[in-house]
Amino acid sequence: MASTAPPDHADNAPLLPDVELNLARSKEPVTGRLVGSDLCMNGKSASFVRHIAVDVSGTVLAGRVRPGQSLGVLAPGLDARGKPHKVRLYSIACPAWGEDGQGQVLSMTVKRDLAEHPPDKQAEGPDDHRLFVGACSNFLCDAPLGTQIQLTGPAGKAFVLPQDPDRHHFLFVAAGTGVAPFRGMLRELFERPEGPVRSRVSLVTGSPYRTDLLYHDAFCALAERHGNFDYAQAISREEGPEGHGEYTHHLINRRMHHYRTLLQDPRTLLYVCGLDGMQTGLFRTLAFHGLAHAYVTVPADLAGTDPNQWPDREVRRGLKPTPRTFLEVY
Ligand code: NAP
Repeated sequence: MASTAPPDHADNAPLLPDVELNLARSKEPVTGRLVGSDLCMNGKSASFVRHIAVDVSGTVLAGRVRPGQSLGVLAPGLDARGKPHKVRLYSIACPAWGEDGQGQVLSMTVKRDLAEHPPDKQAEGPDDHRLFVGACSNFLCDAPLGTQIQLTGPAGKAFVLPQDPDRHHFLFVAAGTGVAPFRGMLRELFERPEGPVRSRVSLVTGSPYRTDLLYHDAFCALAERHGNFDYAQAISREEGPEGHGEYTHHLINRRMHHYRTLLQDPRTLLYVCGLDGMQTGLFRTLAFHGLAHAYVTVPADLAGTDPNQWPDREVRRGLKPTPRTFLEVY
């Protein structure tokens, strides 16, 4: 049931580093060069997600971005209205030192946007079911190595690792490509020059099918190497341990015996990235287990009532993340 315990986040609010913003704007993008394009699903999947690496050496972006920030990409050509494509944002999926160790090669996790209906105002009515092919994601995924990529950014300053990660523990919760920033953050935590972080770090990812899991082998290998890191997968469209598919918050609820100590620790930070709406189930689950107050403020009219009955609208409107919760959902 929802806890009315006083907030305990004040003393444990993380100190965030200063980050640079908008070094390259859309009127003056920089030009990078595609140097890597690899599928990063877990075998044969019905979706296509690529780990895209871009060399930005010689540009203002080199060495000046962090995981958790985003890069903007300007696809070449014109949109259906004859206007230049708008900037599309992708999370930085590498550590601050890039894929090359020098911050010159930056990476993103790009899923081809393909749907059987135009999911925008161009739709010509309910019978219009032509294939919609997203301009930017498909440009990036089609591009051969060497292609010039127009980039802007970095954007975002609030979804980053704290200045002193050793003072905190971490629960990272991702849906689909929302795992992109966590790939970069995990590499920062475990591959930094001063040696791996000794804090406890948990990653929970959600995917429709096991074949959609992203960077799965790399996360498994990380868990093999580091006893303080664990990795769990919530698969929504396959039969799970309870006989049905599950979302990330269902998995956390089912395995609360595993996560409780981490979530109860006053030094733990919660990072959530992916689909807008995934946070509501998670906040309800935390509240149900009496763990919400550290991560969200619960309004007086909901406190003391059954969190499982809280309507989505009320959760979205009423529950506010504390400084120990980081949300990046679209
Ligand atoms: P996806 O492969 O479809 O996986 C999303 C998973 O989340 C599915 O298993 C889905 O289940 C499940 N899900 C649906 N509703 C949920 C809910 N309310 N709570 C918890 N889980 C839920 O994901 P995707 O297509 O990659 O989309 C990921 C999202 O992350 C997009 O909105 C994207 O904009 C955003 N994002 C992307 C980046 C990036 O850099 N590319 C960075 C940050 C965020 P079912 O489909 O079976 O219902």
